[in-house]
Amino acid sequence: MSISLSKSFVDQLVAFRQTLHRFPELSGAEQQTAARVVAKLQETAPDEIREGLGGHGVLALYSGKEPGPTIMFRAELDALPIKEINTFSYRSEREGWGHKCGHDGHMASLLGLAQLLGEARPQKGTVGVLFQPAEETGQGAPAVLADSRFKSFQPDYSFAYHNLPGFPIGKVIVRNDTFSAAVKSLIVRLKGKTSHAAQPEHGINPSHAIARMLDRAAELQEARYGQDDFFLITPIAIRMGELAYGTSAGEGALHFTLRAWTTDHLEHQASILTQSFADIAVQDGLEVEIEWLHVFPATENDSGAYQKVREAALQNGFSMLDKPRPFRWGEDFGHFTREYPGALFGIGSGLNCPALHNPDYDFPDAILPIAVRMFHTIARNLVG
Ligand SMILES: [Zn+2]
Ligand SMILES: [Zn+2]
Repeated sequence: MSISLSKSFVDQLVAFRQTLHRFPELSGAEQQTAARVVAKLQETAPDEIREGLGGHGVLALYSGKEPGPTIMFRAELDALPIKEINTFSYRSEREGWGHKCGHDGHMASLLGLAQLLGEARPQKGTVGVLFQPAEETGQGAPAVLADSRFKSFQPDYSFAYHNLPGFPIGKVIVRNDTFSAAVKSLIVRLKGKTSHAAQPEHGINPSHAIARMLDRAAELQEARYGQDDFFLITPIAIRMGELAYGTSAGEGALHFTLRAWTTDHLEHQASILTQSFADIAVQDGLEVEIEWLHVFPATENDSGAYQKVREAALQNGFSMLDKPRPFRWGEDFGHFTREYPGALFGIGSGLNCPALHNPDYDFPDAILPIAVRMFHTIARNLVG
């Protein structure tokens, strides 16, 4: 089932998107954004609104009269600490912050679905629209999943999309199985001992261990660069000692980001890497501390949910690309697809659209109606 959307319907979604764009908020601090969303959702008279899920998350429910499946659609509330350089009228009014991932557009798309469900309830089952906090830090999805008021919701299927610069505008990008990589970041802290720079042998300088750790990371990387067991280690930052030329360095830290197509493969490679780092540190008499952060499991699409996305694109006559390889970036929707069958899909933002997280990026409003129609068709095909 596909519908056409009136110009006035799309125009008010664009206006809402641009308002969100003007007032970006960072991960975990999305109070005003959530309040704006709640105010709009209330106009659609949902059967229930749950607020404060996993932070500032909001879930609105629309139920049919007959029993049936429970379906969730998700958008993200957060923006980024990136200064907007655009000069259009709705540019960010918060210095140094911007909606540079298009979450403003994802929210407007989901509100569009909520409005359609408010006008015509599903025949059976329940549709939940979730506005999730803190996607960019990877903390929001696990926090929502751990919230008891979300747990009682238990969706049978979950769906979300991300706008994708670099793909033709409006093209629907689908993939069965892994859609986006498992990603996590690593901090390795080394503690040795400072000494006079004239007598480094009296201290424990971490430089040699740091050099060998970088080599080890590169070796492991080279061995696993094949497409099917893809594993990528990106060195992000290194720090050692102080700018004090009389002192031999006594501590240091290395920062990496690791990626693989599956969460299991990432865990396996991560344990090999950290074991080598521990061995190197011991050889040099250094204390080592390992910290993991920004953990994104792979977003693994369920084949049934993937079929629902394909079906919706075909019914609407949207151009579609079945992507041969997963995306290398992480997306915290992977936390949901781990717990509930689901699918993440992409909608092209245009070949000339600035990349995500760039200071001149802006969500292309032209894809709003496409996203709303995709969501709506998926919902109607499942719950009538
Ligand atoms: Zn992002
Ligand atoms: Zn994003």
